[in-house]
Amino acid sequence: MSMRELVVLGTASQAPTRQRNHNGYVLRWDDEVILFDPGEGSQRQLLHTTVTATDLTRICVTHFHGDHCLGLPGTIQRLSLDRVAHPVAVHFPAGGAEYFARLRHATSFYETAELRVEPIEADGQRITLGCGTLEARRLRHPIETYGYRLVEPDGHRMLPEKLTAYGIAGPAVGELIRVGHLDLNGRRVTRDEVSVPRPGQRFAFVMDTGLCDGVYALAEHADLLVIESTFLESEAALAAEVGHLTAAQAARVATESGVRRLVLTHFSQRYSDPRRFHDEARAHFDGDLIIAEDLTTVQLPPRRVASAG
Ligand SMILES: [Zn+2]
Repeated sequence: MSMRELVVLGTASQAPTRQRNHNGYVLRWDDEVILFDPGEGSQRQLLHTTVTATDLTRICVTHFHGDHCLGLPGTIQRLSLDRVAHPVAVHFPAGGAEYFARLRHATSFYETAELRVEPIEADGQRITLGCGTLEARRLRHPIETYGYRLVEPDGHRMLPEKLTAYGIAGPAVGELIRVGHLDLNGRRVTRDEVSVPRPGQRFAFVMDTGLCDGVYALAEHADLLVIESTFLESEAALAAEVGHLTAAQAARVATESGVRRLVLTHFSQRYSDPRRFHDEARAHFDGDLIIAEDLTTVQLPPRRVASAG
């Protein structure tokens, strides 16, 4: 079984608290191990999880406010310290290239790891991965910000008993998947006769934004949505002014977008009781709701059941 899960490193916005480290998240998705928005302390938070710096294959930064990127220097230097042998791709808003250059070479170190620097140049930019497509969408925040989503294409799950019944085995199975049909003893067997649709899975990561089209584009039909809810509705005016979401807004986005499992995070230090985020969001979203805590793991929900046909 391939592993698909979110490892939460930190959940605080702006300033950390005694309970919450600065932001930081790792998505394990088959062969990809993606670090999102490493805030200060992310390297040490990793030590408390099952993820090591050596596991990382990719780093995605939404924007260059400190709580989303001040963990880059330590993490990047750690890749070289550990002599990570595989290249690590790094994505961030192209307009912040100067910040990235500074963070990458913040201090002297012996650089051995290979970083593949691939900035996001435009809304809707797509990066093809072995397991699907990584897409960046522009968000609404005082500086250039992109959210990300990972979309696995829909596929087919072959039914062994049907294959056996038709006497299809070995390389013929691959051909049937590829071509869509197989001519067998004068009869054509189609892929649909021996398989069921396997809906692809989707993960979305939405940080630091006011409500905008990009939020909905990213959240659409996400199996797992990680979204900032810096504020509560009592601070809705402030949230709009500074380009952030409230728990109620984030929950409504999830409902309107058909999200299955919702993870709220990036909490302002002004609120001490996380249940307030839960109660506010619950009034607007009745799916799986998780108020993120540091050093917890959230599984992707089981694959959607394909509709018949
Ligand atoms: Zn920000």
